[in-house]
Amino acid sequence: MKLYKINKSEIDKKGQGLYAARDIKKGEKIINYIGKIITKKQTEESDKYDNNKPIYLFTLNKKYDLDGDFNWNTARLINHSCDNNCDYDGKGLKLWVTSIKVIKKGEELTCDYGFGYDDNYKQFQCNCKKKNCCGFIVRSESRWRINKKFSMSNKENLINNSC
Ligand SMILES: [Zn+2]
Repeated sequence: MKLYKINKSEIDKKGQGLYAARDIKKGEKIINYIGKIITKKQTEESDKYDNNKPIYLFTLNKKYDLDGDFNWNTARLINHSCDNNCDYDGKGLKLWVTSIKVIKKGEELTCDYGFGYDDNYKQFQCNCKKKNCCGFIVRSESRWRINKKFSMSNKENLINNSC
């Protein structure tokens, strides 16, 4: 039995989200995050990975990134929350989503997108409605970064606008 169901999202009103299909314990592997493995060189050379749109790019290691921006990657539907109940986890070239707390059946599954947008962070508003919501999708701290390009340039913004 799958641990998730796809439904209209409560966070992203225009989009879909994933929901717990049953009660989930802390530390359960919920879904694989699949995509295309590309080299850093491809990431740097492609227009797809510029700073102006939300992307689904993960750093796997020094040489490879994973682009999960494909409709066959169901895990991309998981929305960001400032009080997320899941997190991205990985080993080698594999990524998956694991629960980081007890999740009740029917709760929406959420992750920390780890965005560190510099000048552009304001275009990605967060509607998670959690008490600690900072209003924008910005990383708290994340081992797996969505876009390495942001990781060095945004320290100042993170301090000024941290959740
Ligand atoms: Zn939020």
